[in-house]
Amino acid sequence: MSNVDSHDLRQAIIDGCRWMNASGLNQGTSGNISVRCGGDMLITPSGVPYADLKPEMICKLALGVEPDLTGTYPPSSEWRFHQTILNENPDQSTVVHAHPAHATAVAVQRKSIPPCHYMVAAFGGNDVPLVDYALFGSAELADMAALALKDRRACLLANHGAIVTGETFARALWRMEELENLARVYLLAQTAGTPTLLTDEQMHDVITAFADYGPRQTLFDSRNSS
Ligand code: 13P
Ligand code: ZN
Repeated sequence: MSNVDSHDLRQAIIDGCRWMNASGLNQGTSGNISVRCGGDMLITPSGVPYADLKPEMICKLALGVEPDLTGTYPPSSEWRFHQTILNENPDQSTVVHAHPAHATAVAVQRKSIPPCHYMVAAFGGNDVPLVDYALFGSAELADMAALALKDRRACLLANHGAIVTGETFARALWRMEELENLARVYLLAQTAGTPTLLTDEQMHDVITAFADYGPRQTLFDSRNSS
């Protein structure tokens, strides 16, 4: 998929939102998606039920400046963290935010996700970090989330939800699904006792092995990032 502003790209964003709700990763008008589009980003409008979204309602914002918020369909209230994360991570094309039940439950416990499963490495390191609580839509939340995502591809937001990024649009949606499963496994494992965590060395080996996993583009490869 080319990241040129087009009906197809806008429709893909809408389809992604609807898929998150249909698959139980998200609900209602929670969550939002942005995709880099040249020096701009396309982002979902604020508070519109996904079933009602039309391609022309997707907002286009310049990446470098404060947007005009006066239109009929203002951009997502979280435009600040989308903008900051895309600006600070040129190898990432997509930012997805959702309120998945299990990932949010871990965030309500004010915990990060430790290396309880090898797939933690798919998020760029040995944990999925927790971002402190800040009001939704605030510059404070945007700054803290962008800091957490400097060397990670996902973070939890205390008492709120989760953010993932992707080298591609598909990769970002894939990460949100994997993150929610990881959080579910972590919570389940805790109900049965104390989870055994992987060591730093074991996680290092996983990250190395991922370099050879799957098709040419690896989990951490920013080539072909359209
Ligand atoms: P928007 O509808 O403004 O995108 O807000 C949803 C949300 O999840 C805020 O954190
Ligand atoms: Zn939210």
